[in-house]
Amino acid sequence: MSNFRFGRRLAEAEETYDFPPYRPPSEADSLLLRVTRGCPWNRCAFCPMYKDVKFEKRPVEEVKRDIDTARAFTGGNVETVFIGDSDSLVVNTEALCEILGHLHGAFPSLARVTSYARAQTLRRRSLKSLERIREAGLTRLHVGLETGSARLLKRIEKGASPETMISACAKAKDVQFEVSVYVLLGIGGEANWPEHACDTAKVLNRIDPGFIRVRTLTPQPGTPVYQWWMEGSFQMPGPETILREQRALIKDLEVTSQYLSDHVSNYVPINGNLPDDKAGMVSMIDEALEKLSSDDSFKRDLDKMRYLQRL
Ligand code: SF4
Repeated sequence: MSNFRFGRRLAEAEETYDFPPYRPPSEADSLLLRVTRGCPWNRCAFCPMYKDVKFEKRPVEEVKRDIDTARAFTGGNVETVFIGDSDSLVVNTEALCEILGHLHGAFPSLARVTSYARAQTLRRRSLKSLERIREAGLTRLHVGLETGSARLLKRIEKGASPETMISACAKAKDVQFEVSVYVLLGIGGEANWPEHACDTAKVLNRIDPGFIRVRTLTPQPGTPVYQWWMEGSFQMPGPETILREQRALIKDLEVTSQYLSDHVSNYVPINGNLPDDKAGMVSMIDEALEKLSSDDSFKRDLDKMRYLQRL
């Protein structure tokens, strides 16, 4: 049974249980716990996620009550937890450590506790406070890099430069967090994919994160990127460009990371451990590119599959 579904069931069964609306795909089996609501930044040009949610930090006692409810619901048998919403490190150290302490007390067999973290927030935190949070039992941070291009980061209003991304992730690694970095394929559009691929590889090479996770841009109504697309100032790349971009990115990577296409938005599931699987991953992309150029129905199938997976 997926704990994602379990989380929804828990929210339905217990009206007071607050359920984070989003989590990384890799947290599908995790218990979901909401420590904040919404996003304190809420300005990234591609992101529709928390547009209607007013950002707030939940009172510690309220979060602890949710932990107790989840414990009663599961009997304490939980191994992984994801803490939402978009940037839990904005919570002060005392409060976050108290919540983490209560969580580990309720679920003694916990092996992994993860959260999204904005690079800016991470960078502003002292090493000492990060160390305390790590020791209190938060183990992995999911950081949205999206692109390594300074120009594109500015255009999409990510609120962090490549240097900020690098220093924030280095800090997290220094205190032994596992770092999972997200890349947004297609965010350079048809015009800027080579810059996106090349600069993203450069930043990832400096970070050398434990995990590189890619997802493919799907412009959502209500976001600036969607508006640029509708107006014609942004050309959404098709599967061929996305594959070329991904090929260039992987070719340039010099990391010791797990590379994962673990998101329904992606055209072709390219996964592997770098550097060992690099050649195989590139060949898989070449095969898909070859098929795209020789088989018209393949592009339609890829588009259809991506559409169906998102339903
Ligand atoms: S991508 Fe993340 S940081 Fe940016 S607006 Fe969305 S939730 Fe906030």
